[in-house]
Amino acid sequence: MTKGILINYDYCTGCHSCEVACKKELGLPKGEFGIKLTETGPYEYSEKEGSSPKERWEWTWLPVVTKACDMCAERTESGKMPMCVQHCQAWCMYYGEAEDLVKKMDGGSRWALFTR
Ligand code: SF4
Ligand code: SF4
Repeated sequence: MTKGILINYDYCTGCHSCEVACKKELGLPKGEFGIKLTETGPYEYSEKEGSSPKERWEWTWLPVVTKACDMCAERTESGKMPMCVQHCQAWCMYYGEAEDLVKKMDGGSRWALFTR
């Protein structure tokens, strides 16, 4: 079965906790990451008629899982959550079977699914 990490990035605050927790778990040196936060914006779209202020502004954080990620194999094999998921300050990260994670995507907010 394919395991994955699902992120509801509408709720990511850009706190970097997942990044730091992962670096500690993998023992990575400066400049290397198992998950790396990206930032888009802030910028304003040309005004669209009837759009709310929230829809006009882009300012998005999204952590991207890198090649160094092993899905916290040791931890998850013993029933623990991956470090990044456990330390997410906004509780917007999930770990599990990709098939089950897909079912969480409700169409109401923005999601990213990383698998391996
Ligand atoms: S699952 Fe583990 S190795 Fe992968 S990004 Fe999260 S903390 Fe890092
Ligand atoms: S820990 Fe959660 S809220 Fe913080 S940057 Fe990572 S995904 Fe976003």
